[in-house]
Amino acid sequence: MTVVNEKIVLITGASSGIGEATVRELAGAGARLFIGARRAERLKALARELGERVAWRELDVTDAASFEAFVDAAEQRFGGIDVLVNNAGVMPLSPLAALKREEWKRMIDVNIHGVLNGIAAVLPRFVAKGNGHVVNVASVGAHLVLPTAAVYCGTKYAVWAITEGLRQEHDDIRSTIISPGVTATELGDDISDPQVAAALKDWRQKSLTPDAIARAIRYALEQPDGVDVNEVIVRPTSAN
Ligand code: NDP
Repeated sequence: MTVVNEKIVLITGASSGIGEATVRELAGAGARLFIGARRAERLKALARELGERVAWRELDVTDAASFEAFVDAAEQRFGGIDVLVNNAGVMPLSPLAALKREEWKRMIDVNIHGVLNGIAAVLPRFVAKGNGHVVNVASVGAHLVLPTAAVYCGTKYAVWAITEGLRQEHDDIRSTIISPGVTATELGDDISDPQVAAALKDWRQKSLTPDAIARAIRYALEQPDGVDVNEVIVRPTSAN
């Protein structure tokens, strides 16, 4: 096993849910973490709680300049970058016929452009040093489509395809897709359609806790350099 505490790991969407749980999991394993999201107060509190191995910077993944500055700051702070975890995502579900164009755009901006901005910020550096690891959080929605989730699933199919393309083009850079099933987080709290919000509450009756996904990410990071974990799908069982 590669020792996680040798690694410098950048995590987006670290202010709640799966991102926050991953910060805790990897901090516990001794990694140095540079964490980003828009809600700076939450990042600050998490970094303060976990100590000097965790540093933070406000980040909007939809803004390429913000992402470049985030990666530059991480490099300055820790002297390099080993892993980028593109975890930030949004899921304002609705039926297509509701024509919620602004919500469609937001999902495409955060879930697809956010991942591409992250890849663009680290890829030249990873190519230059001949190694690196990009972990993209997709979803079981990268493998199936459900009513009200057409656009969300479309963004996650795209994340799956982009990650697979990265793998094919760079065999010295590891690329991992993490595909969570239903996980109890703040995701979808902004759903504007009351019926869809109620349906999500029903789905959540059988859900994982975010630490289950954090452990899957840790597993991918712990493998030796010659081992690329390409995808992990994690679903809840009826024991939840
Ligand atoms: P949360 O809503 O708890 O976390 C989402 C995170 O994304 C927050 O930290 C939020 O931070 C961040 N974020 C949103 N927009 C931006 C932005 N423009 N720039 C930077 N950060 C942003 O949900 P989860 O933890 O569940 O979601 C994490 C990932 O897991 C997402 O990609 C989601 O699609 C995926 N996933 C989740 C599942 C689930 O059931 N929960 C199932 C399958 C996949 P802030 O608002 O502070 O910017």
